[in-house]
Amino acid sequence: MSDYQYQRVLLKLSGEALMGEGDYGIDPAVTDRLARDIKALHDEGLQIGIVVGGGNIFRGIAGAAGGMDRAQADYIGMLATVMNALALQDAFERVECSCRVMSAIQMNEVCEPYIRRRAMHHLEKGDIVIFAAGSGNPYFTTDTAAALRACEIDADCLIKATKVNGIYDKDPAKFDDAVRFDRISYHEVLLRGLQVMDSTATALCQDNRMPIIVLNIEGENHIKRALMGEAIGTVVVQED
Ligand code: UDP
Repeated sequence: MSDYQYQRVLLKLSGEALMGEGDYGIDPAVTDRLARDIKALHDEGLQIGIVVGGGNIFRGIAGAAGGMDRAQADYIGMLATVMNALALQDAFERVECSCRVMSAIQMNEVCEPYIRRRAMHHLEKGDIVIFAAGSGNPYFTTDTAAALRACEIDADCLIKATKVNGIYDKDPAKFDDAVRFDRISYHEVLLRGLQVMDSTATALCQDNRMPIIVLNIEGENHIKRALMGEAIGTVVVQED
């Protein structure tokens, strides 16, 4: 336990992280692997909250671009995150890891409502908590929901797990000379318009001094190594 620099973490998983090689939906082999990897951290005593996205199923902005009412489309997106949360819970339970799903939109037949104090209690007694349905509000993203929940549960850091190995000065998929930052300030991220999280999420972390670690979920033990303080990915912090 003492090897870890952070003890309570909020992990943001995008919906795309669940779809594996496919281009839509949930790959059970991927959720199984994620559950095993996260359980290994949990078994070492870390308290873990997860916010899962829904982009592997539906994004409100795409619905709106196709002519749908934006708020209505966003509610569909939030429901997509609940599906992902239930799939992850299923994977955790199959590796015998106790896991709660708490939804910002009430649907008591399938999961608990999000109640902050109850979420804290679950974490303290060792359950993994998956926060579903984003913030419960349209016009937000699950990145912002992750920043919000991280602050609410008093997490030590927010981990944004992506398919890229941190934050670069330009898109590493397009530019060979893109340079990765080990550490960068919130201000710089916002100023340069770096596409790491949306600006609302970054600003919320900045206002509350919530460190963000951006890393590649597919890297070997990346989350564990980052939580031990190794320079994995990029850390976004306040530079005083
Ligand atoms: N969403 C929302 N409010 C929230 C969180 C999410 O309206 O607080 C909707 C929004 O339409 C979004 C969709 O849910 O596009 C899925 O979330 P997101 O795009 O953040 O998923 P990710 O990109 O992380 O898979």
